[in-house]
Parts: sequence; C-alpha cells; structure tokens
Amino acid sequence: MYSFFESVERSFNKAAEYTKWDKGLLEQIKACNSIYTMRFPVKMDDGRIEVIEAYRVQHSQHKTPCKGGIRFSGEVNQDEVMALASLMTYKCAIVNVPFGGAKGGIKINPRNHSTYELEKITRRYTAELVKKNFIGPGIDVPAPDYGTGEREMAWIVDTYASLKPGEIDAAGCVTGKPISQGGVHGRKEATGLGVFFGVREVCKNANTMKKLGLTTGIEGKRIIVQGLGNVGYHCAKFFRENGAIVIAIAEYEGAVYNENGINEEELFQHRKTTGSGNNFKDSTFIPKSSDALELDCDILIPAALENVIDGNNAPRIKAKIVAEAANGPLTPEADEVFVNRGILVIPDMYLNAGGVTVSYFEWLKNLSHVRYGRLEKRFTESMNHHILTELELLTGKEASAKARKLIEHGADEIDLVHSGLEETMISATQEIMEIMQENPTIPDMRTAAYICAINKVALSYTELGIFP
Ligand code: GLU
Repeated sequence: MYSFFESVERSFNKAAEYTKWDKGLLEQIKACNSIYTMRFPVKMDDGRIEVIEAYRVQHSQHKTPCKGGIRFSGEVNQDEVMALASLMTYKCAIVNVPFGGAKGGIKINPRNHSTYELEKITRRYTAELVKKNFIGPGIDVPAPDYGTGEREMAWIVDTYASLKPGEIDAAGCVTGKPISQGGVHGRKEATGLGVFFGVREVCKNANTMKKLGLTTGIEGKRIIVQGLGNVGYHCAKFFRENGAIVIAIAEYEGAVYNENGINEEELFQHRKTTGSGNNFKDSTFIPKSSDALELDCDILIPAALENVIDGNNAPRIKAKIVAEAANGPLTPEADEVFVNRGILVIPDMYLNAGGVTVSYFEWLKNLSHVRYGRLEKRFTESMNHHILTELELLTGKEASAKARKLIEHGADEIDLVHSGLEETMISATQEIMEIMQENPTIPDMRTAAYICAINKVALSYTELGIFP
C-alpha cells in the first residue's frame, strides 16, 4: 500500500526514466517546496470551541502564482494535500497554464456544520493564509475543490479584500467566485466540460478505439459516473447531451442504474428532495455504491475522491476506458491491472485540468478588470452583418433567419471561455498521444502525461540557468 503522495512519486519516477534530465533537477521538481500546517480555534453555534486542522501546500514556485483548490473533507491530511498540490503543478504544465501547483485542505465534514460555522472557518483560514503570505493574486490563488464551491470562494475574496484595503487586484486572490464577485462565466462546469472534451478527442482516434473494441465517437457510449458533485454532475450532463447513455450514477448512499439512461438533473432534484437516490424513477437502486463501478459499460468516470479503484476491485472493472475526472482515483496497483488488461486510463492530471484552465481565464479577467467580449462583441456583430448583407447582394440569395443569427453573433464571455477550454483540452490530448506514438515503449497515458509535464517544468528551471 502506498500513500497518495507516494503513488504520485511512483508515477513520477516511472516517467522520469523516459527523460534525460539531471537527477537533482528531477528531485527538485518532485519535492513539495512549502508546507503550511495550521491549527486554529473556532467557536461553534453551541458555544463549543473546536480546534480546526488545516493545510496549504505549495508544491512548486517554478511559475507564480501557485494555484490549486481548497477541499473540505473529514479525510484531509498532509500527505493528501501534498499529493494534490504536486498533481496541480503537473496539470498546469500540461495545459500550459503558467502557475505552480498548490492545494489546501480543511479537515472538516461540511455536512456536520451550519452555514455560519462554515463561513467562520473559511474566513479564519483565509486570515491565517494572509498572515503567512500564503495567498494573493501574485502569490498563491486558491479555488474550489471537493466540498467547496462559489460560496466559500466569495467568503475568501471578501476576507482577503478587507485585510488588504486598496489592493486593486484583490479579486484575483481566488478563482471559482460567483460572477458578481469577479467570477467568470463557465467556471462552474469547466472541469466536467474539460473531461468531456478530453474523452471525446481520445474517442475520435480510430486506432485507439479499434484496439479497445469500441467504435469511434461519443454517441451511444454507455457511461458510469461516480459522484454527483459539481464535476460528476457536469460530466454526466455533457456526455448525455452529446448522445452518450449514462447508465449508472453512484453516490455515497448508493447508486442508481438504468440501462436506458439517467438524466442527471432529475436525479439531482430527486436526491435533493428525498435525501437519496433510492426510488428514482424507472431505475434500480444499488445500496453498495462501489458495486456500480463494476457494472458492464464502455467508459467509467470516477468523479469524486482518490483511491476508489485499487488492486482489489480493478480486476472486476468491466469498462474499456477509465476517465479520471477526480484527482487520484486509481492506486498504482489498479493502474498496473488496467495496463495488463488493456483498459485505457485517461489520467486525471490532464483530463480534469478544465477547472484550472478556466480559473486561469478568471484570474486574467480579474487582472484586466474587464469582462471577456466587452470590447469586440458589437464590433464583430456589425462587421458580420455587413459581410452577410454584401454576400446576399452579390449572390442574390438570402440567408435563413437561423443562419443569419448564427453568423452575426458576436462572442460573449461564455463563448470565449468554452472555446479556450476546448482548444486547451484538444491540444493537451493530442500532445500526450503524440508522446505515446513517438515512443511505443511508454506503457500508458499516465506515464506519457508525466513525461510531458516533467519536460515542461524542467525546461523552465534550465532556462533560468539553475540546472544544467
Ligand atoms: N480544484 C481543481 C483541481 O483540482 C481546480 C483548481 C483551480 O482551479 O485552481 O484542478
């Protein structure tokens, strides 16, 4: 059994063998540079004082600011935050987002706290980060992760801005904020949409699909999603909207199965009103959630926490593709089983990079103090109108109302964000697949993704002249 951080180190070492970088440089890339462990007291609603355990790890400052989410979970520990911070460095490198990796964690189960308690904990955590200079638009920029969302990010930016009066770029101290607090359209669905774009690109590759015994394309693929949080929900949504059939969705209380497909929004509403997926229309309820991962399907998408597939259940998984929407859902033992069984694993560190990619767009928006599309939208629309009118005059034909609407449309913020995300995920997939094609001895996509990341981070060190 390896700890999560050891698993990351193991994958790193495996990939490092395929590179020619100096040993010391590889050690520097792998190490977590700064680890901040904190304990602070918070008075709960019943008057009790609870000592809260929390972390912020900055894995690398080869590029600044550092970047990575903050998770709220009862399982948070230093090893986990270190592993997640490391993955952030590699993830950002692969998708060419100019940040070093970081991660934060607060060891609480948000379900056991009132909103007011959560607000107090989040604000106090932010104040601790400010005290030690562990947060700021040019230092370290947190974001949502497991158990956190827009609401927590709004508390963070508000606390930061009140402790740093007059800091003009304060909004850029955290991403994943509500739009009214400086957020960007498209951040919420970004990770799920990025997973969809990444998987779609792999499924376009005829050779890869042939080897797996699958047809090309997303249409008709049978999908299982584990987790109906923000990432799982949006994965299910985009696959369904593009013709895939989501046959099962697993959550902690059990899984819902329907061979004809599940609508994630309906299931979400059902769980909200009844508190469980049980009795969801036309579906079978599987009380042991992990059993659902072993159902027959084409693509399995773990979209919750780490280590859910290990050496024990990996031999029973029937999917042909495992798409890692979560961070670290597979143990190294599971990885080995899948390589031997010819199951394709599309690795977390690039596949779920959609979140941080759109976080980058949000941060850029905050620093530029202007919404995407504000300057050019009307200009593009009137230019397109003139071009179309001129073409109609020249050809004597009239465009349909639908075509006119489509052609004349000038890009809104959401169009630009989705387009930037699509471009990022397609390029990253192609880059990793090319690395595999160039060297057929590379055993899996994870190793290829690590090679890609190591090369990019190493280059930024060597260009500084620190290492040979
Ligand atoms: N928590 C997300 C991740 O693991 C997003 C991080 C970010 O946007 O900075 O990639």
